[in-house]
Amino acid sequence: MDTKQTSRRNLLKYSAIGAAVLPLTNLFGKAKAKVEKPIVLSTWNFGVAANAEAWKVLSAGGRALDAVEAGVRVPEADGKNNSVGYGGLPDRDGRVTLDACIMDEFGNCGSVASLEYVMHAASVARKVMEKTPHVMLVGDGALQFALDNDFPKQNLLTPESEKAWKQWLTTAQYKPIINVENHDTIGMIAMDANGNLSGACTTSGLAYKMHGRVGDSPIIGAGLYVDNEIGAATSTGLGEEVIRIVGCHLVVELMRQGQTPEQACRTAVERIVKKQPQKSKDIQVGFLALNKQGEYGAFCLQKGFNYAVYSNPVKNQLFDSKSHY
Ligand code: ASP
Repeated sequence: MDTKQTSRRNLLKYSAIGAAVLPLTNLFGKAKAKVEKPIVLSTWNFGVAANAEAWKVLSAGGRALDAVEAGVRVPEADGKNNSVGYGGLPDRDGRVTLDACIMDEFGNCGSVASLEYVMHAASVARKVMEKTPHVMLVGDGALQFALDNDFPKQNLLTPESEKAWKQWLTTAQYKPIINVENHDTIGMIAMDANGNLSGACTTSGLAYKMHGRVGDSPIIGAGLYVDNEIGAATSTGLGEEVIRIVGCHLVVELMRQGQTPEQACRTAVERIVKKQPQKSKDIQVGFLALNKQGEYGAFCLQKGFNYAVYSNPVKNQLFDSKSHY
């Protein structure tokens, strides 16, 4: 990216922050932060297309829950996206297994893990939330439930992903490490025109993982958490490290204690660094958060994590997250 583009991005970034957040008034306690709603945020650059779909729901006065589900269905259906839904890279046995969860403003939540053959894992998670007394279904049970609820069964392994897997098999090096080139969950959090929060998170997880490995993304409190009184958070990166600190629940609780979304994300990242100083240099974890006032922020371990924001006046812009390293 050239300097002009970078500075334009920074300009947009700071003007966006200025519009959505009033940090000085907050700092000195003179006024409440301006509420910009509706708003939707999502992880990585494919969040732009996902946000656009979510915005259709939000701008029509729809519910945040419907918006996040509609939004994440975009990368789930995109065969070119090799880390979410259809076209996701398989596990070491060549099986595409999906993890997803969803949470609404009432604290209702649903989740599926290690789901095969069904592209829209977050929609299955929503059905788990709405139609069962449970929070989480896994593996064959999740598949059976999806088929019973009329989700189509299909092969999720695209020729491109199969080719990449076969290439990987030539060395079959098992390194459960995610760097900035090998990741990409979509986590999406939104506040609707009524000020209600919801979130969804969906992924094919770590490429070439052990069969049955489940990351943070379908774990309520790790890959996603929503508390309608306080805010919402989602994460991406090496799920094992996010699970160890129950990352998104931590971020929401830090916001409850008064930290801004960016500060809360930063504190969570720093906790990973403190616990794993060496390992944290080689992995990526990123958090994205939104509070009840419409303030938002992100923080990650390594440079390279970005997120998309769609609200007023910020129209679906991509921002670079600040990083620890
Ligand atoms: N968090 C996901 C996992 O560990 C992967 C990612 O976001 O890159 O499964």
